[in-house]
Order: sequence, then C-alpha cells, then structure tokens
Amino acid sequence: MIEDEPRILGFLARGLEAEGFAVDGARNGREGLKRAQRDTYDLVLLDLLLPGMDGLSVLHELNRSRPELPVVIVSARSDLPTKLRGFGLGAADYLSKPFAFDELIARIRVQLRRSTLGSDGHVVRAGTLVLDLARREASLGAVTAQLSDREFRVLHHLVEHKGEIISRERLLSEVWGYHFDPGSNVVDVCIRRLRKKLGTDAPIETVRHAGYRLTAA
Ligand code: CA
Repeated sequence: MIEDEPRILGFLARGLEAEGFAVDGARNGREGLKRAQRDTYDLVLLDLLLPGMDGLSVLHELNRSRPELPVVIVSARSDLPTKLRGFGLGAADYLSKPFAFDELIARIRVQLRRSTLGSDGHVVRAGTLVLDLARREASLGAVTAQLSDREFRVLHHLVEHKGEIISRERLLSEVWGYHFDPGSNVVDVCIRRLRKKLGTDAPIETVRHAGYRLTAA
C-alpha cells in the first residue's frame, strides 16, 4: 500500500490483515515504486496525492516494469479525467475516498482471482496435496483448510520447490520480505499452523539445521 497519510495506512493495513492479507506500507511514491519493483507482491493499492513522486507517475513506471502486477488506485480525487488518466496508465481498478471497507476487500479479491487465473490455472498439486490459488485453500485427503495469506504463500513456495530443502531465511525473505528479523520464529510458527490445519498427514518435513521440505511425491 502506497499511502502518505499514516492514519489511513494504519487503519487499512489493520483491516486487511484481519482479512488474512499480508500488507506492507510505503509512505511516498518513490519508496513504494522501488519496493513494488523489487519484492514479490500480488497487488498494489496506490494513493495519487503523494509527496515527491505522485501516484500517476508511480503507476506509469510500474505499468512499464511490472505490467502483470494489478494496481488499484485509492484516491480522494473522484473526477472523471483523473480516473480516465489512471485507467489509461494501466490501473486495474479505481476506488474514490471515502469508500466502504467491504467494497475495497471485494475489489481486491476480484483482482487477485483474475491474476491467479490468468497465469497458471487456479490449482497446483503436489501428490495428494491440492492448492487452490483463487480460494487460498489447501486440501489433503478429506481435509480442506482455509489458509491465511502467509500460510498460503509458505505452502505455495514449498509446493513449487517440492523435494528441495528450503531454508527458514529463504521463506522469510520470499514470504515476509524486507526487514524481518532473521532471528524471528515466524516461519516456524507458520509451519506449525499449516501442519495443524492439514492434519497428521501434512507432507512438510523439518530438516534439522537446514529448513523445511515438502515430501509429497
Ligand atoms: Ca495522499
């Protein structure tokens, strides 16, 4: 989320996290652009009136460098020329402030569904483990579990690298990104929650002093 108003950023980030999303915030356009280009994100929420580099310039740059990344403009500007300019520069959607939080969530979900369907279908399998990318669900045998955004991304990463040992540090940087303390135990906590949700047959193996491995054939 690229938003310079700390109260809005804090409020929206808390609301989105309560809905199971992982949120990073940037307080100005240049920093937001840099991070959106450098890290792995599913979607960008972009304010337009930002200090330094304005939102439309950020959008223009992002659309050139990361055309597959959906950008939803969230702005107090609600005039038609600005909206059309935003869509012309590649915005996936446009929401005028003030808005209902539930509408923002609904619009975000539409975009995320679209981008996962567009790439590689909406189901990934590893043996009997099935990941539904659109619903963010994992099923294993008779168990179907709804996953949080980070649980989903950890499991997806393990599935994509099935059979390989993936270190905690790698999961931390792939899924949490940025400035997380490398001594943090968030990865282990997340793996524990995944095992609990998937049941005793969860195909996630702990490799001592090395990391985790998805063992499904
Ligand atoms: Ca602003």
